[in-house]
Amino acid sequence: MAEAPNTQQLDKGDDVSRPASAPHPPLGRDKRGWHVSPAPDGRGAPPGEKPRPAHRNRWFLWFVVALLALNWLSLLLVQPNSQPRETVPFSVFLSDLRGGEIKSVSAKADAVQGTLRKKVRYPAHSKTATPTALFATQVPTFWNNTQLSAELEAEHVTITATSPTTSESILEELLLGFGPTLLIVGIFVLIFRRAAKAGGGMGALGTFGRSKARRVEPENIRVTFADVAGIDEAKAELTEIVDFLRDPTRYARLGGRMPHGVLLSGAPGTGKTLLARAVAGEAHAAFFSISASEFIEAIVGVGASRVRDLFTQARAAEPSIVFIDELDAIGRSRQGSVSVTGANDEREQTLDQILTEMDGFESTDAVVVLAATNRADVLDSALLRAGRFDRRVAVQAPDRAGRAAILKVHTKSIPLARSVDLEAIASSTPGMVGADLANLANEAALLAARRNHEKVEMSDFTDALEKIMLGAPRGIILGPADRERTAYHESGHALVGMLTTGADPVRKVSIIPRGMALGVTLSTPDTDRVNYSREELTAKILVALGGRVAEEIVYGQVTTGAESDIQQLTMIARQMVGRWGMSDLIGPVAVLPSENSGPWLPGASETSEDTQRQVDEEVHQLVTDAHIEVTALLTAHREQLDSLAHALLEAETLDAIDAYAAAGLPAHVAAPDVVR
Ligand code: ADP
Ligand code: ZN
Repeated sequence: MAEAPNTQQLDKGDDVSRPASAPHPPLGRDKRGWHVSPAPDGRGAPPGEKPRPAHRNRWFLWFVVALLALNWLSLLLVQPNSQPRETVPFSVFLSDLRGGEIKSVSAKADAVQGTLRKKVRYPAHSKTATPTALFATQVPTFWNNTQLSAELEAEHVTITATSPTTSESILEELLLGFGPTLLIVGIFVLIFRRAAKAGGGMGALGTFGRSKARRVEPENIRVTFADVAGIDEAKAELTEIVDFLRDPTRYARLGGRMPHGVLLSGAPGTGKTLLARAVAGEAHAAFFSISASEFIEAIVGVGASRVRDLFTQARAAEPSIVFIDELDAIGRSRQGSVSVTGANDEREQTLDQILTEMDGFESTDAVVVLAATNRADVLDSALLRAGRFDRRVAVQAPDRAGRAAILKVHTKSIPLARSVDLEAIASSTPGMVGADLANLANEAALLAARRNHEKVEMSDFTDALEKIMLGAPRGIILGPADRERTAYHESGHALVGMLTTGADPVRKVSIIPRGMALGVTLSTPDTDRVNYSREELTAKILVALGGRVAEEIVYGQVTTGAESDIQQLTMIARQMVGRWGMSDLIGPVAVLPSENSGPWLPGASETSEDTQRQVDEEVHQLVTDAHIEVTALLTAHREQLDSLAHALLEAETLDAIDAYAAAGLPAHVAAPDVVR
């Protein structure tokens, strides 16, 4: 049983797929004999992919030489001379001159440097100063230069002059001249080397434009349609693509044109990536995957060249699939977005290049671009035109039967105890998508391993589900006052939920702090919900208010604990009024700004200020009415509230049955209650 945790291998980002030990039938080979490229010995690799160590080394050598030179120069410059040059006041210089101690001077404009006939310390009494014959001084501008010259001549001092514009030392000149250049060159080398590393350790300069797509060869793809469950419509639509990839000419013969672009749209975790890999696995096609955001770099034009590179590789590896995840990152509608920076140019160029590549497909090219997005509504219409992503497949969240099928796939390699009822788990997980269910199966297996179970039992599943739905306990201890308040708060939610028609049945109430919450009341519908009536939405608002109102009734004051409740109910109320046409005053008019309409320009709102005020008033009215209703309800059922709260204080966590019993209400009977 200890191996169970390792059985969940189909997760996102896992390119190489299962380990050899995983129970998977070997893939049948395509009769036409798909080619493997590049061959293990490097034949058939796209040009430029061969490592170019010499090139890279030369760059590196130059860099090292430059660094060394820089180092040497700076050392020379700062190295203390054996004889430091002392800067002395002009008066000292004059007295030295008149005392005949100066051997030579060299002047540059008003600056004078010179050598004494013998070494002295300066200041004269200092014990620490190094004796030196070198000095420097500055001639005041008001000084009589003629007289100074005469005196210098009289003392037989050697005089030299330097042009005021040339710098004094070659070293300094070198440093000033080449230092910045060397630095910039060095930085560039560093950048290129880093880019090269990110791009797969190839050459230096060329790699910027190389695609970062991950490539999986056909023989390494172990995912097939058998691994995809619960989204049968999407699967059915894609079988045609598989057929086409296996034999592109068959379709062309009859004059048909297969779509070269398929857009998979659906919520995160519904299995879009999995589906794309399964298509590649079924068709024995090479699989290139990249996230659209990976095309974009700060430098304009890089994205487009990456796209070119990716498609060149994909064409060379026919049959192949190019999977572009999060297409909306570059494919957002160009209308309405305001370009302030150059970021949009880069996005557009990249997008245009993708479109150009797709337009360039021959009907027999066995390359299919699968793109995934969870925001199909924001995509640029240019993407959806004929010949591009003209086939769209909606990947829906699975229904109850679908969830059971997905659980079956993900428990294939987990030893299950007889008590495990996948159907029951499926019916108590409405709203969960494939990724959630895969995670659930994995958590259950982990839990079973930790508990030293022989097989994964139903209790492992229910506890794993509880952990996923409610969050893991936080491990803080509430003081008695806070505990009681939390108990009343949660009891308020739960009791309103039990007493209101249209509210989802209460599954669990708990005052164990988890995540951000001090307590939790879990209520889930019996069946999958795709549509809510006005009554049901109002019930949600009532239940959300229950916690706060219970505090008001019991303590006469409120705390900050109801913040997320308030956010939630406000959101529902606003959408009821502004999006779903459930307010009589506003009517069935969408007055909330749609999410995709980019940054607002001042004054670009679609609705008048008047309407907005009306929306606010309607929302306020809705919530106020609900507040009155809940207050009346809980005041009338105060005794039940007390007994539920006390039961909760005692047990900390109540299942549906116990909670309904504590409130003196008949238990809700419906789908098997797995969350316990
Ligand atoms: P998406 O790309 O839609 O965000 P993924 O394909 O990455 O979702 O799904 C993540 C993981 O969830 C998959 O690797 C798989 O293990 C599991 N999964 C999702 N949907 C399904 C499904 N329909 N059938 C089986 N497993 C699924
Ligand atoms: Zn609450």
